[in-house]
Amino acid sequence: MGRIMKSAAALLLIAFGTGCAGENINQKLYTGGFIAMDTYISLTLYGESGEKASAECKKEIERLEAMFSVTDENSEISLINNAQGAKTTVSAETAELIDFALKAGDISGGCLDITVYPVVREWGFTTGEYKVPDPDSLSELLKNTGYEKVILENNALTLPPDGKIDLGAVAKGYAGDKAIEILKNNGIVSGLISLGGNIQTIGGKPDGTPWNVAVRDPFSEDNFGILKIKDRAIVTSGNYERFFEENGKIYHHIIDPSDGYPADNGIVSATVIGDKGALCDALSTAVFVMGTEKSEELWRSRGDFEMILVTDEKEIFITEGIYDSFENTSDMEMKVIYKKQ
Ligand code: ADP
Ligand code: MG
Repeated sequence: MGRIMKSAAALLLIAFGTGCAGENINQKLYTGGFIAMDTYISLTLYGESGEKASAECKKEIERLEAMFSVTDENSEISLINNAQGAKTTVSAETAELIDFALKAGDISGGCLDITVYPVVREWGFTTGEYKVPDPDSLSELLKNTGYEKVILENNALTLPPDGKIDLGAVAKGYAGDKAIEILKNNGIVSGLISLGGNIQTIGGKPDGTPWNVAVRDPFSEDNFGILKIKDRAIVTSGNYERFFEENGKIYHHIIDPSDGYPADNGIVSATVIGDKGALCDALSTAVFVMGTEKSEELWRSRGDFEMILVTDEKEIFITEGIYDSFENTSDMEMKVIYKKQ
């Protein structure tokens, strides 16, 4: 794979304090990890079959990577991207994830757009050969983008002749969901998997207390706060994850599909908390592009996710549903977003 490895995970597990005895306190601990999907994946599992479960997760994530990778010429996504406008039949699973991502495009007003890939590639974010594209080539590429141009009939997909897609904004979250299923099937009752910036958990810690998940401070190598959660996915999209600098300006890897430039609305980090990794992954990228106001509207209209946004003004915005579970350890000011304005 030609893509660069991300150096630091956006979220870190902090396992301090054991608290009082809980129902799973005597479970065997397994910790391990492996590299897949361009990132380090680590697991902390309590149960008899942690090692076997972890090996099954690795196999499953490698299977998904082989299907979804945009840089693997043999992936189903490459099959679609090389079709030059011809109808392409893919597996039901790939079609389903594409369908999910297209729906996320709908709910985000086009801010999550899997067809933005040719633009992402032009900036060099998939190869590491970074450059600021000239405006003409960007507007040329933007003629072929737009998720609404994707035709999906059952498992057959048709794109414009120069259209290409990338599931990079949702694949890790989806892979996390599949991993959680595998872990549960292996009897893991307490566990945490970290896929780069994505954290997904089963239950709480063995003593019954919630997991402590630190959220990375976009302004430093440190964290700005700690989330206490059980049975949740927590996904962060940040401007610090993959970027380059040219003439003193920072260009990061989350692109605003409306103009082809890195999203520039004041949000520097967007964390989404919910039941499923795929939804949280889609929404963390979407919210990052949407900006605070539109994101608040989306949050009010749905009720299936919570979020923590950090802006370049060093302000934290947190939705009221997760406020009680978050401890702000930074000196940034925190404002609560309420359902009723
Ligand atoms: P990461 O994979 O770094 O954790 P995200 O989940 O936010 O971060 O996804 C970012 C990736 O998605 C980019 O690397 C790029 O491949 C792709 N991408 C960038 N902008 C968009 C967008 N507006 N819609 C969909 N995908 C995008
Ligand atoms: Mg994402």
